Amino acid sequence: MISVAEAHINIQDRIQSPKTETVSINDAAGRVLAQETVATFPQPRFDNTAMDGFAVRAGDTQGASSASPVTLSMKGTITAGGPADIVIGAGECCQIMTGAPMPEGADAVVMVEDTSGFEDSSSVDISREVVEKENIRYSGEEIAEGETLIHPGNRLGAGEIGVAVTFGYEELEVYRRPRISIFATGDELIEPGEELKPSQIYNSNFHVFAELSERVGAQIAMRGVLKDNPDSLKKFLSEALKKSDLIVSSGGVSMGKHDYVRDIFLELGVKEHFWKVAQKPGRPLFFGELEGTLIFGLPGNPVSSFTCFMEFAWPTCERMMGLTPTKKVTARLLEPFPRETEKRRYLLGHVEMDGREMVAKPSGKYGSHMFTSALMTNAILEAPRGDGPLNAGEEIIARLLPWSELQ
Ligand code: AMP
Ligand code: MG
Repeated sequence: MISVAEAHINIQDRIQSPKTETVSINDAAGRVLAQETVATFPQPRFDNTAMDGFAVRAGDTQGASSASPVTLSMKGTITAGGPADIVIGAGECCQIMTGAPMPEGADAVVMVEDTSGFEDSSSVDISREVVEKENIRYSGEEIAEGETLIHPGNRLGAGEIGVAVTFGYEELEVYRRPRISIFATGDELIEPGEELKPSQIYNSNFHVFAELSERVGAQIAMRGVLKDNPDSLKKFLSEALKKSDLIVSSGGVSMGKHDYVRDIFLELGVKEHFWKVAQKPGRPLFFGELEGTLIFGLPGNPVSSFTCFMEFAWPTCERMMGLTPTKKVTARLLEPFPRETEKRRYLLGHVEMDGREMVAKPSGKYGSHMFTSALMTNAILEAPRGDGPLNAGEEIIARLLPWSELQ
């Protein structure tokens, strides 16, 4: 039996460097960037107005007020997207719309609200004094040409997509989504919609795996719900091994008489890197590899399956697509937390901010079969091996569940 830390090192050593592909900017949301992106021009690209109003020479507006406006002669209109083919001389101005390029000769913009308005006349009354540079957005004031925008390894959200488009990126090189195959095993499993017969259970793990796989950003290559039957396992696996970067299974890796999954992995030539990790729940975790495909055999109890997926399969998917897994945090326990002398102990739980401090409350449902402990949960809490329970007030490690909120 190896420690959780050893298991992580072992897994990381087997993850191949992520592969990349080029996608249209329209398909890039949610993907992980694999290229450097830089400002392809200074931003703003040209001096332009921040307001709808009049481009003026600031000096001409000196002393202007609503009681004694200054009258300037009007030379025309510059619109956003239009040419700035007007030159502003002393005593002159032009109408200018937000985002439009500044005309030569002008050095400030008076908001239309501080004037007699956009009327078709040859002059305009200015009722407020402006200073040089007022209401102008200058070229390069936000970012210079060539400056880095988004580094590789960042997931592309609305902000990143918007910035890439701002600088004209039509395509982006991103990391490939890992292809994952997921399956559940067990003669007792049935699907929602089917009628429960005595001793059957609904197959929740498979649906949890599907949700987690999609959420982390993997592509589901194959799905299966299999009986505890060596032939069907072999058939599914031999195909999944060809089509997947990662295979995750639920059940059938313990010591039961019908726990065939590990045997079939080995029969198909999978190299076992470990089986059994010093953790509770999730001790009979299997990890192996065949021709670059990584295989996790997770034990079937729902809390074990979920915890093992989040602790091992999730960060593996993240690494496979160029992400750095998120670090765990520490929180102060509000209630005692059980510990194991020889194993890392996980419990689902809830963390929240209490002033500036993070506090944690473990679920009171300790059994690995008690999946309702996943409700009202936003973290997996963990205690390293040690003697006796941790007391309220002591520190606990927490993996915040990436989709949940911290309040
Ligand atoms: P196993 O790891 O196959 O020995 O299963 C351990 C326990 O988890 C048993 O009580 C199973 O009935 C339960 N179990 C196995 N697979 C699933 C599943 N897909 N969904 C919910 N519970 C499961
Ligand atoms: Mg089973």
